[in-house]
Amino acid sequence: MDTLLDVRDLHVEFRTRDGVAKAVNGVNYSVNAGETLAVLGESGSGKSVTAQAIMGILDSPPGHITRGRIFFQGADVLSLHREARRVLRGARMAMIFQDALSALNPVLSVGDQLGEMFVVHRGLSRRDARARAVELMDRVRIPAARQRVGDYPHQFSGGMRQRIMIAMAMALEPDLIIADEPTTALDVTVQAQVMELLAELQREMRMGLILITHDLGVVADVADKIAVMYAGRIVETAPVHQIYQRPAHPYTKGLLDSIPRLDQKGQELYAIKGLPPSLLRIPPGCPFHPRCPMAQEVCRTDEPPLYEVGPKRGSACHFWKETLGG
Ligand code: SF4
Ligand code: MG
Repeated sequence: MDTLLDVRDLHVEFRTRDGVAKAVNGVNYSVNAGETLAVLGESGSGKSVTAQAIMGILDSPPGHITRGRIFFQGADVLSLHREARRVLRGARMAMIFQDALSALNPVLSVGDQLGEMFVVHRGLSRRDARARAVELMDRVRIPAARQRVGDYPHQFSGGMRQRIMIAMAMALEPDLIIADEPTTALDVTVQAQVMELLAELQREMRMGLILITHDLGVVADVADKIAVMYAGRIVETAPVHQIYQRPAHPYTKGLLDSIPRLDQKGQELYAIKGLPPSLLRIPPGCPFHPRCPMAQEVCRTDEPPLYEVGPKRGSACHFWKETLGG
């Protein structure tokens, strides 16, 4: 398979007034053409910061990459010049954000915003660009696209706006899309429709997709593989179905146990105790140990590496065998 994106040993730090926040601490992952990687974790786990580093949109300063490399279609992205990065970001990789309303320009019609992509990157005339905008709106199934192309973002519902964001991201047929919590702000039924649309377009266009989410429930049907992040590290990685059937890390197990299930109606929902650590003071040893129901003495002192626990599976837990077994 063609490796589209390869992130190796990525470290990102933020200088804050209270000290150095270690947001990403040695992340490795890869995405092949046409493949969907779901990156899962609570807020502050480093999943968005990793994505911003890939896209080249980290606010720097205060955020900066202190170690690691990012390869995209074989090119060493971090060594590219600013202009080459900008072109890459415009045409070959695109990002979809959670909040379409703030990502879209409120004083430009959606047709102008979509058309702008074709004017700037493809040199189309305004008229042709507008025709392409209508096509795109059709493609993401916005009803009456021709009539609505002159409407402004606030005139659309949340779900429709998110479709417009997807259209913007896909306009230039990128090879990689990073979607950061693309459906979190939407109602549950709309969530499913938007996720389905995204997955369908991704398959049709054979794009690589990184789907960032805190919700294990939304990725089961669309992802090929999952990376679970905690305190800026990947703590478990596996093909999607294996993780649901047999998690190999207590944190993943906790996340799975806290998904509401229809067959357990009325039962109290499990919640992982405590909160994720401050990135200014990540606990020594296994960073999950203060919250882990399986923690032993060794967990306080020795940081677990990402053990190979099966084909294409990794777990950063000293007791992964027990976790898999129990
Ligand atoms: Fe829990 Fe220890 Fe495994 Fe960390 S290494 S997840 S603390 S059992
Ligand atoms: Mg985030």
